Amino acid sequence: MLKKPYITARTNVLCVIGHPIEHSMSPIMHNAALKDLSLDYVYVAFNIPPNDLKRAVLGFKMFSIKGINVTIPYKENIIPYLDEIDPLAEKIGAVNTIKNEGKYLIGKNTDASGAKKALLDAGCEITGKKALILGAGGAAKAVSFAISEDLDALYIANRTEKRAIKLAKDLTNKTAIKAIGKNMSINTLKNLLDEVDILINTTPLGMYPAIEESPISEEMLHNDLFVFDIVYNPLETKLLKEASKIGCKTLSGLDMFVNQGALAFEWWTGKKPNLNLMKEKVVEFLGKK
Ligand code: NAP
Repeated sequence: MLKKPYITARTNVLCVIGHPIEHSMSPIMHNAALKDLSLDYVYVAFNIPPNDLKRAVLGFKMFSIKGINVTIPYKENIIPYLDEIDPLAEKIGAVNTIKNEGKYLIGKNTDASGAKKALLDAGCEITGKKALILGAGGAAKAVSFAISEDLDALYIANRTEKRAIKLAKDLTNKTAIKAIGKNMSINTLKNLLDEVDILINTTPLGMYPAIEESPISEEMLHNDLFVFDIVYNPLETKLLKEASKIGCKTLSGLDMFVNQGALAFEWWTGKKPNLNLMKEKVVEFLGKK
């Protein structure tokens, strides 16, 4: 039964923006949590064409949209339109959550804290360990800044090597780690994998519908690795299946996704959402797709 059956003239609006946006699980997850707490909010998705970002941001103020999630491709280029961003989001250079405080827009990055919490909750020891991150895009930035201070060594390997080198330089300049950027050739990955304790995939390789792809071949894995794949559709990617088969500890992207959403939810509403319910709804929806 609906706990808050009516959307009224007073209902608060939350949203996610991106381009495209039809695939987003955020409305399912947030609306379930809002209903569970009987909060007078509704969460919707807006597809914003690339040339309309600035006008969309003015729209948040005009329509009093209370909270906004930002996804691909706007996490970086939305920053100049915000009134304030928090220090971590500034370091990372990406914002995935905005709060509208009386037409004053504040940006945060909850992907970073969401990823770190997921790793720690899964029993992954980060302090003093060596990690290899695959990819150098927006998610790689958030994850690497989230864990870099605790690590002993951090390697970033990317298809486009210069992006990996740039991210590594940025991490080295802004945090205590001396990160190293590499290419993603088989030989490079083989050498790095022998050395590291934690492997994190932030590329879309293995994501639906390309579920037969994996960034790493099975024989390159060793069972001392903790393998975190931030992809959550499917819940168990080819990489995670193969890693778990040889005895690695593994973690899917679902917990990071739910954590980043829960942190945003609490910041906007002041209430703690039910994480298990949020997770359950995403899994249920993924099963139906
Ligand atoms: P992005 O900024 O577009 O970056 C994508 C990265 O993957 C780049 O480094 C790119 O390399 C690399 N890449 C793309 N296609 C590749 C291929 N065929 N082979 C090798 N490398 C490839 O995207 P993003 O925002 O970082 O998101 C990446 C993935 O993370 C997506 O699948 C997204 O759904 C997932 N994600 C999950 C969560 C979560 O909460 N679990 C949060 C954010 C993102 P180049 O530099 O060479 O192009």
